[in-house]
Amino acid sequence: MSFLSATLSRVKPSPTIAVTNKARELAAAGKDVIGLGAGEPDFDTPQNIKDAAKAAIDAGKTKYTAVDGIPELKAAICAKLKRDNGLDYVPAQVTVGTGGKQVLYNALMATLNPGDEVIIPAPYWVSYPDMVLLAGGTPVIAQASMQTGFKLTADQLEAAITPKTKWFIFNSPSNPTGAGYTWDELKELTDVLLRHPHVWVMTDDMYEHLIYGDFEFCTPAQVEPRLYDRTLTCNGVSKAYAMTGWRIGYAAGPKDLIAAMGKIQSQSTSNPCSISQWAAVEALNGPQDFIPVNNALFQKRRDMVVDMLNAAPGITCPVPEGAFYVYPSIAGCIGKTTPAGVKITDDEVFATALLEEAGVAVVFGAAFGLSPNFRVSYATADDALRAACTRIQDFCAKLS
Ligand code: PLP
Repeated sequence: MSFLSATLSRVKPSPTIAVTNKARELAAAGKDVIGLGAGEPDFDTPQNIKDAAKAAIDAGKTKYTAVDGIPELKAAICAKLKRDNGLDYVPAQVTVGTGGKQVLYNALMATLNPGDEVIIPAPYWVSYPDMVLLAGGTPVIAQASMQTGFKLTADQLEAAITPKTKWFIFNSPSNPTGAGYTWDELKELTDVLLRHPHVWVMTDDMYEHLIYGDFEFCTPAQVEPRLYDRTLTCNGVSKAYAMTGWRIGYAAGPKDLIAAMGKIQSQSTSNPCSISQWAAVEALNGPQDFIPVNNALFQKRRDMVVDMLNAAPGITCPVPEGAFYVYPSIAGCIGKTTPAGVKITDDEVFATALLEEAGVAVVFGAAFGLSPNFRVSYATADDALRAACTRIQDFCAKLS
């Protein structure tokens, strides 16, 4: 009998981390590799946020805090939810954790019993199904398609709901596709949920601020206030404020649920880093004007990547509304053979060959639940991005 738990055997290691490791190995062996796998902005954390962290250290704010967040941060989160999303929350409805990841995990741990189902639209962020499994629940994948811009339709959501459904996980703009739901598109989904009062909504708004053109962000409790009492609105500072390493995420929702999530955290990690919490107060309360500046750069990169990938034979790349990912299809490459003699049978073979023969690391679509595609993160310096796209074009042109 294995020493390791049965739960662990149900969970896969993160494929995005596996790709990053493989790229690192090849680079260490002297190969010229460009990584397009990372899910974090290449910008530095803004100076005012770093200064707030330094001031917190100097002021001795280096001790345990309240398990689920300092009052100042909870107040900043309530103000943010009102300002950006028109949502009213009081501090007792807010919890702060070590990254958005911990907050989502706490919510699943606090609510799932064996047999409980969680609807996850595919393509999905790699962690959702495994977090549901770790918490003892059953992931139910609701398959969206490229034809609808990777967005779930009302009929698809309706078909996935059963009497055992506990949560619907919603993520817009999405990792891995960058797809963002408009108000009307989201309203179609919330209308379905209104007809099923036993289903709660866990919305992951992590990419809220990374949006392009005239796309406007919206979140379920805002679009359908009648869902407020069964919505957990999750967010964090990692992506918009280039603070992935600081590990601060948060959620707002019904008080009992928030208290239950705090109970899980009290017996696992306790409070998130005190210094990071003070930095997050500054991130949320301080100037927000660098966000559109960064977005303008990201939008240029998005447009360049979409154009260059669409010029690669066999690749079709839709234009996403947000985040820093594109999710092109390689349907036109399937069945072809690389110069090294590898037959492209699926997106995993494609990504491996692209890495080994062209030195570009991307994550294959099967990891996110929709094939044959791959995910490119364009949170990378312009020159590296252009060089990587040129390599992808050359790689595809040489397929026979
Ligand atoms: N949700 C989505 C959709 C993400 O892409 C990520 C990070 O990649 C997270 C949550 C986790 O964010 P954090 O780094 O704050 O834990």
